[in-house]
Amino acid sequence: MKPVGKWTCKGCASSSVDLFLEVSGVPVNANILHAARKDALGAAKGDVALGFCSVCGHVQNARYSPRPVEYTAEYENSLHFSPLFQDYARSLAVGLIERHNLYNKEVVEIGSGKGDFLNLICDLGGNRGVGFDPTYICERDENRDNDKVVFVNEMYSEKNTPAACDMLICRHVLEHLSNPKEFLTMIRSVLGGRRSTSVYVEVPNADYMLREKKYWDVIYEHASYFTKASLVSLLRTCSFEVTELSESFDGQFISVEASPSSASPSRQDASAINALRAEVAAFADRYRIKVVSWNSALKEIEASSARAVVWGAGSKGTTFLNILKTGGIEYVVDINPHKHGTFVPVSAQEIVGPGFLAEYRPEIIIVMNPVYIEEIWALVKGMGLKTRLLTA
Ligand SMILES: [Zn+2]
Repeated sequence: MKPVGKWTCKGCASSSVDLFLEVSGVPVNANILHAARKDALGAAKGDVALGFCSVCGHVQNARYSPRPVEYTAEYENSLHFSPLFQDYARSLAVGLIERHNLYNKEVVEIGSGKGDFLNLICDLGGNRGVGFDPTYICERDENRDNDKVVFVNEMYSEKNTPAACDMLICRHVLEHLSNPKEFLTMIRSVLGGRRSTSVYVEVPNADYMLREKKYWDVIYEHASYFTKASLVSLLRTCSFEVTELSESFDGQFISVEASPSSASPSRQDASAINALRAEVAAFADRYRIKVVSWNSALKEIEASSARAVVWGAGSKGTTFLNILKTGGIEYVVDINPHKHGTFVPVSAQEIVGPGFLAEYRPEIIIVMNPVYIEEIWALVKGMGLKTRLLTA
């Protein structure tokens, strides 16, 4: 790894950050839907330069700027339409309710998205909830008449938060922030002396991304890629005591349960940091090889005129379609009906529902997230298609 430059670590604020991978020209908003192809073609692009912090093990995009990233109602990253994801959300909600005795309690969710998880945890435990998210759409919320759960169409801040809560949930938020330390410090100051509040934090797992070589998880709108080491270190610095730490959703997420405490700067295990350093170097080397091999495979597919589609119009799919030469691919399948008829940013493929495949009869389906492969296989078999499934 060449020390190309120094930046301040978003995790520990040290300046021991070295770049290890640069990816240019990716859409800055991988989850913004475009109703017209011409708007998709003109969507904003940005560069990613991943840096590794050798003090706390954090990975971050050194080129990240919050300015071009938009979180509006057009931001669509709900995974709620997958039965597998619904099972995960339900078992997480049940586990939190049981471990923290969340019955008839106050729950706050920061970054509550379209409201699915907060509605679920309030419904299952008879709890009251307040959710904060600028991308919430009231008309889409089947639970909107339930006055026990309220959504605020704004970012969470010390100005709009309710006085007290028993559980504070923050899922898939910290990785989007240019200053996660400042945000956690603000949350901790809002909680003040109320040490009985339980906190649940979930982020994408960079240990998994590096270990399993999930190349298409490198996206512009993730300012941070938390490893378990860097997340625990940051929470401790911001005066949270970590009571549970685990990998969830097949290893793809880091789940942390914590409670407010006094600050306790954590000492890092040097051998764990060294192992991570080796992983980031290997990831960068393999990333470059993967791009070359996929481009040659895609060229062959295009030359053979085989009908190929990508399955998954989330950030992984958007990245795959933009980094590689995917000119031969016209359609992307997604089970979220709110995405159908819209277009992928920049590369501009049309997003269709699974039903479209019965007519299009693709010979190849490139699956973005292997965790869904059985779900996809069952759908494809049900349609009687003779299709090869490839995992990206
Ligand atoms: Zn650091």
